[in-house]
Amino acid sequence: MTRTRLAQLWHLLADLLFPPRCAVCRQPGSALCTACVGAIVPFQDPRCLRCDLPCLAQIGLCPACQQNLASALEGLRSIGPHVEPLRSGIHALKYQARPTIAQPLGHLMAARWQATGSPVDAILPLPLHPERQRERGYNQASLLAQAMAERLTLPLREELLWRVRATSSQVKLGRAARQENMAGAFAASPAVAGGRWLLVDDVCTTSATLEEAARALREQGATAVWAITAARAYREP
Ligand SMILES: [Zn+2]
Ligand SMILES: [Zn+2]
Repeated sequence: MTRTRLAQLWHLLADLLFPPRCAVCRQPGSALCTACVGAIVPFQDPRCLRCDLPCLAQIGLCPACQQNLASALEGLRSIGPHVEPLRSGIHALKYQARPTIAQPLGHLMAARWQATGSPVDAILPLPLHPERQRERGYNQASLLAQAMAERLTLPLREELLWRVRATSSQVKLGRAARQENMAGAFAASPAVAGGRWLLVDDVCTTSATLEEAARALREQGATAVWAITAARAYREP
């Protein structure tokens, strides 16, 4: 039995035996307490209509999006930048085997989508490679997508998109290398043709992964592909 699996079993058991605790500050009561939810900082307005990042234009697209017209994504949304306490919450979800935090994070993502999103037909979690999923025991994107789908009463369609090959870790790669690393990583079902889909993942760094997944969906005839992540890597310009 792997360490992750053991940690996961321990947390499952602890959740049954003890009242839930905030994954960020350990306060008993819920998986993410109201103080920590209140401490999450959204991006500052005005924001780019496409990528949702702060931009100087009053209404419209940021300079990066004005130049990137070839994107397969209609737009990207997130709860906020990848900083505390969001960062610890996502870390707990991914690396500390605390899947219960997917519920409150997914509900915050649902609220963000409702506030700014366009109509979509279903929610698609970004698939993990089966080997990675076996190691972790679950796909964190699926858990976030489930919580969002319940809250938005939208169908969850996990079977429409899958990973066709494992990709090496993106952490140390630059933007161009990430794009190359992800090329051809996904395949989509012909059943996505004519549909409007919302991709869900935990963190967006350069959007290379989401772009590649969106491209696979568009190649099969998807009408529109949006994406939402819990957090977004962002450095003030
Ligand atoms: Zn807390
Ligand atoms: Zn933009």
